[in-house]
Amino acid sequence: MKELITSASFVISSPSIEDCPEPTLPEYAFIGRSNVGKSSLINMLTNHSKLAKVSGRPGKTQLINHFLINKTWFLVDLPGYGWAKVSKTEKAKWKKMIDDYLTQRTNLINVFVLIDCRHSPQKIDLEFMQWLGEEEIPFSMVFTKTDKLKKVKLEASITNYNNELLKSWEEVPTQFLTSASNKSGKDELISDIFKINSGLTN
Ligand code: GDP
Repeated sequence: MKELITSASFVISSPSIEDCPEPTLPEYAFIGRSNVGKSSLINMLTNHSKLAKVSGRPGKTQLINHFLINKTWFLVDLPGYGWAKVSKTEKAKWKKMIDDYLTQRTNLINVFVLIDCRHSPQKIDLEFMQWLGEEEIPFSMVFTKTDKLKKVKLEASITNYNNELLKSWEEVPTQFLTSASNKSGKDELISDIFKINSGLTN
């Protein structure tokens, strides 16, 4: 049976982990460089055109955004990293908020790290995933905007990425290929979450 997201609603935007909702439901977080397509992906997954706000300006308030899905789990939109023009103070604030959230959120089940499929491996993403590994925070990778590359180029780009990962990882993490434009990868990603959730309740 195809798993469906039948309800999705905004819960709260929190400036720090202390302000997040009670950690009573399984939680899945999405993060990546700004402009990677995170808002578009969240809107595609939840069948909403405007649940997550599409790209704001750099320097706007960085918040942890909680959405309640099917009244049974939280989807979390974490602020993107990699804005060129953000001050050191803003970067430090972001880092503290994200570090605290990722290391202390007790109901966090998995982090989805978004990567633009067209880009060669970027230091900022590789370092972030390295840090997640060191902290033993479970994560998967989501290659976004796959409609922008022809099949052969897409495969080459991912092979190239994985070769880079295999320099420091024994195996590559679980990966999803998605496009918010043609809605590909949606079912695979959602069923992964549903599968984990059903394992949690059984
Ligand atoms: P965010 O900053 O990570 O939340 O990224 P957005 O979702 O705002 O997307 C950034 C830009 O990429 C926007 O212009 C989107 O229309 C575009 N975009 C996002 N996802 C896709 C996709 O799957 N395919 C294509 N072709 N464009 C996309």
